[in-house]
Amino acid sequence: MASGLNRKNVTETVERLRNYFASDATRDFAWRRQQLDALERLLTEGATDIEDALRADLHKHPTESEITEIGFVLAELRLAKRKLRRWMRGSRERVPLALAPASARTVPQPLGTVLIVGPWNYPLQLLIAPLVGALAAGNTVVIKPSELAPATSAVVAALVEKYLDPAAVAVMEGGPEVSGWLLDQPWDHIFFTGGGRVAKIVAEKAARHLTPVTLELGGKSPVFVDGTGNMKSVARRIAWAKFINAGQTCVAPDYVLVTPDAQERLQVELAGAIRELYGDDPSLSDDYGRIISTDHYLRLTSMLRLGTVVSGGRKEVGTRYLEPTILADVLPTSTVMTEEIFGPVLPVVTVPDAESAIAFINQLDKPLALYVMSTRRSVRRAFLERTSSGALDFNVGAAHLSVPGLPFGGVGASGMGAYHGKRSFDVFSHQRAVLSKPLSPDTLRLIYPPYTPRKSKFVTALLRRLS
Ligand code: NAD
Repeated sequence: MASGLNRKNVTETVERLRNYFASDATRDFAWRRQQLDALERLLTEGATDIEDALRADLHKHPTESEITEIGFVLAELRLAKRKLRRWMRGSRERVPLALAPASARTVPQPLGTVLIVGPWNYPLQLLIAPLVGALAAGNTVVIKPSELAPATSAVVAALVEKYLDPAAVAVMEGGPEVSGWLLDQPWDHIFFTGGGRVAKIVAEKAARHLTPVTLELGGKSPVFVDGTGNMKSVARRIAWAKFINAGQTCVAPDYVLVTPDAQERLQVELAGAIRELYGDDPSLSDDYGRIISTDHYLRLTSMLRLGTVVSGGRKEVGTRYLEPTILADVLPTSTVMTEEIFGPVLPVVTVPDAESAIAFINQLDKPLALYVMSTRRSVRRAFLERTSSGALDFNVGAAHLSVPGLPFGGVGASGMGAYHGKRSFDVFSHQRAVLSKPLSPDTLRLIYPPYTPRKSKFVTALLRRLS
């Protein structure tokens, strides 16, 4: 499909989806429910093909694909199926007495035709989880997978064509060129997951049509460790969150800030946790991923020179293998501490105390996630009250996104907007304000001009009393 695309057929497809939306076919409950059922079949019947594709692109173990991609999306999907009727109902709102009698409610409406652009690191989840919201909300949708995960891109294209309503959902494969053609179209919403550099292009192009955007971005998500609590558990939780998908996770711990007394212990325990997860030689482990491209491999391996390798560091360019690596003695000004790492390299930096960690974090961009490993309530409260991040997890890493009630999204440079659970439905809906008032009694006459002194006095007194 990628090779056959050009600006003209991109424009034609979007027009076709717009016309289908205008036919009202996607608005009713039955169509939405049918599409969610079809999406469920796509995920369950297509699971083996999806797992094979994720293995080919990222060397993901099928169980990891189940946890972080297929199973994850199925949970979102089943929640949407269960709650759809209730979500579509909207809510009733109180009417001020001065306006009574009247009734007020919000009615969610589909936005129209929307674009979802995905990255390569969770190439199924990050396309299909937003798609659940877009379909539940009754939109027509174009999906643009990442060209850097070509096997998953192809499988998503084939499965969507097979299972979903082709009049309402189209997959357009390709890289920046296809993305550019798509972004030139007028959309009712753009949902983008990726890096800050491309997000600025997306936001700029969207602004030309005043298209609203959701930007799910990344950044440097810190972990603070003060040595309290069970350090084996602390290390295991950090290692799992960091090295899953070979560190190519937007909410992966990017670097660790540790107090001096705990540094040595943490490094030993981290090395032990890595052995527990992936064995003495992770290159032989079925469970450990590979770097997505040679460019990213070279970017990451060049970081190994920016500190002292405490554990790990073995690599092989041919298979794009980079061992889980702990790095010490890094300079705060080196790129490993200023740019998102997005790979299996974990710098460990000592800070005198929690206060210094907070100061360090606050001088960088607001992160997507922040992890605090401490049993001290005062420390946890200080991070809660005096730092900002998309999410804050205490004593666990990268787990908040599996709670459907929690918003998943960034703040500042880590993104704008949030989704998961009902929020995914809300992202792709317009909350329309609907007010209805009987024509009689015509109580509004009380506030119409002419404003005689008597009327003014009465209206002012009434409004002040009722407000
Ligand atoms: P990216 O920004 O390079 O690419 C994302 C998408 O944009 C891809 O589909 C790509 O084809 C497209 N694209 C690339 N260049 C473009 C251009 N010039 N114009 C228009 N579109 C273009 O991101 P990536 O490398 O795929 O993913 C890594 C980044 O994504 C990291 O920063 C990571 O933190 C972030 N991320 C965030 C989340 C989240 O949920 N917040 C999840 C995963 C990844």
